[in-house]
Amino acid sequence: MTKNHPLEIVYIKAKETFLGLISPKDATAFLVKERNFNPSSATTVIRIFLKMLNGERFTRTLSVEYFEYFLYSIYTDMGVSKLDLALKSLNEHILYINTKGDSKVTLKKVIQIYAQKVLLNENAQKEIQIEDEFEQEEIATTFKSKSKEEIIEELKNVTSIEPEIIIINGKAYKRDNKTIAQIKFVRDYKCQICSSYILKANGKRYIEAAHIIPKALKGSEKANNIILLCPNHHKEFDLGNRQILLHNENEIQFTLNGKDFCINF
Ligand SMILES: [Zn+2]
Repeated sequence: MTKNHPLEIVYIKAKETFLGLISPKDATAFLVKERNFNPSSATTVIRIFLKMLNGERFTRTLSVEYFEYFLYSIYTDMGVSKLDLALKSLNEHILYINTKGDSKVTLKKVIQIYAQKVLLNENAQKEIQIEDEFEQEEIATTFKSKSKEEIIEELKNVTSIEPEIIIINGKAYKRDNKTIAQIKFVRDYKCQICSSYILKANGKRYIEAAHIIPKALKGSEKANNIILLCPNHHKEFDLGNRQILLHNENEIQFTLNGKDFCINF
């Protein structure tokens, strides 16, 4: 797949439509005028692309070259979460097409290749989590000489202007991991909803740090933006019906799936 692929302009126009930069009508008109599409194919190709990016089923089909190029472009240009949606949409399309007696063998192979990329990305994410977990354990070994009060004092002084990488005993660590290791230490590695934790084979406790305001929304790494949760409560916190009633330096009050909680930092 090189630059100036014949389908590149189709992808560009479809993407502009998705982003709301041009209307579907303008995109199809462009393909008809500049690329000699017939109006019906131009409409179909734009509509299918939008369905793919929204993870929705569609019924009319395109040649496998289109789908392959779209998957490739979505993957390299928009990332795996959009690729995942496009694959979902295509799988539903295939289920529909199968009922019409077409097995779409080649398209299924293409889908498998890209599904593999989503999987590899998930594995890479897991590896990052394992690395973070290990870094936090390593950092925690340097707390032995300190009291909880000292670490609480250090946590109060965390500012967002500190560098991303910090040096402890001559080794470089991600700054986030230091703060999270400190919070886990002072809060005894326990879920702040149910007090449970997972005991690891090495005898240490496993607990997850949840950001109240997500990092993606510029949530800070300060102690009052992080609560410790067991894996179950972490998922419930992220996915459940949650309403924050009060959130300040010292505490958070929220309802989660109908239950009230008050957690002190
Ligand atoms: Zn819990």
